[in-house]
Amino acid sequence: MRPLAFETNASYIGRLAGAHHLTMRELLSSLRIYRPKIYPREDRHGPHSPTELYLNAAARERISQYTGIPGEQLARALPCWKDHEGGCGRRTTAGAHPGGALRPSNLPAVIGCPHCTIARTGQDQPVWRYLPHHRLVCARHQTWALGPHTLHGASVPHTHVLLHRAPEIVHACYAHHRLVRRWGPDADDAIAQAARITEHWRRHAPPAEHVWHERAERLAPHGTHDAPLWAVLAREAITYPETIALARLFEHRPAARYLRTHPGQRHPLQTAIAQVLDRDWLEGPQHYPDDLSHFIGTAPRDHNSQTAYRHHSERVSLHPCTIELTALGYQPPPQIRRSASAGKGTARLVRWKR
Ligand SMILES: [Zn+2]
Repeated sequence: MRPLAFETNASYIGRLAGAHHLTMRELLSSLRIYRPKIYPREDRHGPHSPTELYLNAAARERISQYTGIPGEQLARALPCWKDHEGGCGRRTTAGAHPGGALRPSNLPAVIGCPHCTIARTGQDQPVWRYLPHHRLVCARHQTWALGPHTLHGASVPHTHVLLHRAPEIVHACYAHHRLVRRWGPDADDAIAQAARITEHWRRHAPPAEHVWHERAERLAPHGTHDAPLWAVLAREAITYPETIALARLFEHRPAARYLRTHPGQRHPLQTAIAQVLDRDWLEGPQHYPDDLSHFIGTAPRDHNSQTAYRHHSERVSLHPCTIELTALGYQPPPQIRRSASAGKGTARLVRWKR
């Protein structure tokens, strides 16, 4: 069984085991791979970040022999295939025994498009993948992969937002592909910066801003009563068309990205930005409280292919996997509250009581 592109090791090994009606532990045991050492969760990863399985070279070789897939092919499909850090296998004079470690993933992972997953695997089991930013959108099935979120520490059950009523987001994705093809890593950095800036504007938008509000309403599932929740969950999708337009502007005016200004001082791109994004309010210097160069950052990259992963819309490098919605300013209405009875930090959301 072949892995899906960008799949996590844990997802692939788990599916491999499931295909043979085994648990992951039983599969590893049958291949004489030591039970992986489980590293305690660290707070900085959040309680619901996906767990990754890191295997040492000897264990990877056994998986490769078992599947008949050369190690290099597995490494191409699985971004963390070779990311084992030493000290997890039991070392003898003959070298490390096959083994590994289970610990929270360092890279942001999302659940791939459910329809594509069923088409590729024949099953509806979610597949965790380290999808690059320009692959978060599935244009065929009109979905956007949201990534894991928590609300007061409880896992939010929504994994995707549907784009059927927001075709401009799919069009922006095509533009994103073209940008990456043309400019490579430069485009990734411009998009990372643009994403942070548009998120800043979304949060501090004046009442005159209506496009993002209206788009958020279109992205909320039809008939839902929790549009404010979706406005925060889908924030990256909501600002995505403007993010890509801003990144294109940066690509044509690269020096402007690094230009240092002071709060309240006009940025030389202000007029151009207001025109490109079709926002009169962005003409006002008060909406540029920080120097735009403060938003420069790079997305985490695959060291082999230089593929950039998600371009976080805020400085969350220490929290790459799970994002707490209340930290983004979302306050749930009283109808949504934590279940006090769930326990073990897995409180479920109790949905609308009407
Ligand atoms: Zn799809």
